[in-house]
Amino acid sequence: APVLAVVGRPNVGKSTLVNRLLGRREAVVQDVPGVTRDRVAYDALWNGRRFTIVDTGGWEPDATGLQAAVAAQADLAMQTADAVLLVVDATVGATATDEAVARVLRRSDRPVLLAATKVDNERLVAETAALWRLGLGEPRPVSGLHGRGSGDLLDAILEALPETPREDIGQSGAAGPRRVALVGKPNVGKSSLLNRLAGETRSVVHEVAGTTVDPVDSLVELDGTLWRFVDTAGLRKRVKTASGMEYYASLRTRSAIEAAEVAIVLIDASEPIAEQDQRVIGMVEETGRALVLAFNKWDLVDENRRLALKRELDRDLVRVRWAERVNVSALTGRSVAKMAPALRTALASWDQRIPTGQLNGWLADLLAATPPPVRGGKQPKVLFATQAQTRPPTFVLFTTGFLEAGYRRFLERRLREEFGFTGSPIRLSVRVRE
Ligand code: GDP
Repeated sequence: APVLAVVGRPNVGKSTLVNRLLGRREAVVQDVPGVTRDRVAYDALWNGRRFTIVDTGGWEPDATGLQAAVAAQADLAMQTADAVLLVVDATVGATATDEAVARVLRRSDRPVLLAATKVDNERLVAETAALWRLGLGEPRPVSGLHGRGSGDLLDAILEALPETPREDIGQSGAAGPRRVALVGKPNVGKSSLLNRLAGETRSVVHEVAGTTVDPVDSLVELDGTLWRFVDTAGLRKRVKTASGMEYYASLRTRSAIEAAEVAIVLIDASEPIAEQDQRVIGMVEETGRALVLAFNKWDLVDENRRLALKRELDRDLVRVRWAERVNVSALTGRSVAKMAPALRTALASWDQRIPTGQLNGWLADLLAATPPPVRGGKQPKVLFATQAQTRPPTFVLFTTGFLEAGYRRFLERRLREEFGFTGSPIRLSVRVRE
């Protein structure tokens, strides 16, 4: 959905207005412990059209001063949003800070709208005219208290927003940011890593409160791209170890993986690989999502542990040899910057499609060199292959006879050697033609 960024000084009534636009009364969450964020995003619906409202935080004067903070915020809004709404307090009028941000916004190549809040009576309506001088077009009076003007404002917003969101916010062809599940057993450092990812890149973490009750996602900007980390609400809750809670946590993990396109399975590198790690990885395999294995707490890993881990990988995780792997430390920030490239690689593999001609050319050579083993006195022939699906890549082989598991594994291995697919499971099915 297209994105509207709402910017404004603290206490201008921004949150009240956002709630009005969302058509609900509850207060916008002001603070979410455990997760760094400087923005909050909500799904909005008006006249049958969906869009996302991103509520930027109030500007706090930081070391660089208020003006710089404001300019940076406005810049970011212009970069990430399809349209920007500047909120000004009509009872105060345009302050120097408002003028500073208006100056930045006037340079925007995106549509900018101006809302004047707290217009609770007729006298104030007249005064909003003074806001024309901000150079952002017509000031639109609204009253968060009475709801006055919010319908007109919503109409204007929809007019300003494009039908489809900007390409570079999502990924080519995909709807919106790519969806990531950050999963792993309790205490492996999921929340620490999420905070680190958010903080490290001066990113934007929005809480996307769904229109439905449950999942709360975070949008995190990494390497200039927005990613949707699904169901990060669960990360904030300390999961108790009573068996019932564990079951619930595991359901939640599964549903996060299902909702995602790529899963980061976080593993505590300082401890032996646990059965629970294997179970989570198994869920990713079953659902066919792309996989990044992140070995966290690398700061605690010495040479002995490193060698032991290598043995454990060969013993317990050979099945997912194809996974993208990164060794990180959420604590020190080590290699956390490798996370986005790893996600990209895994997703590119997950999306990859091999043209049928290319696939069969390669297969013909391979079959000539290493034909399928004879079974029951017969030589099964592979007639041709095609990639039936992506996400994950799924291949169908048409044959004249059954191919044994060992040979299918051999084909899969060769397929990976030839075409890559790092970070993505691939599926191979055999159709025997009678
Ligand atoms: P979660 O349950 O998976 O969300 O784990 P938390 O993020 O709450 O982290 C659990 C504990 O591990 C906390 O005490 C963190 O400070 C610690 N921790 C997380 N990442 C690292 C790391 O990279 N190195 C070290 N040494 N400790 C870490």
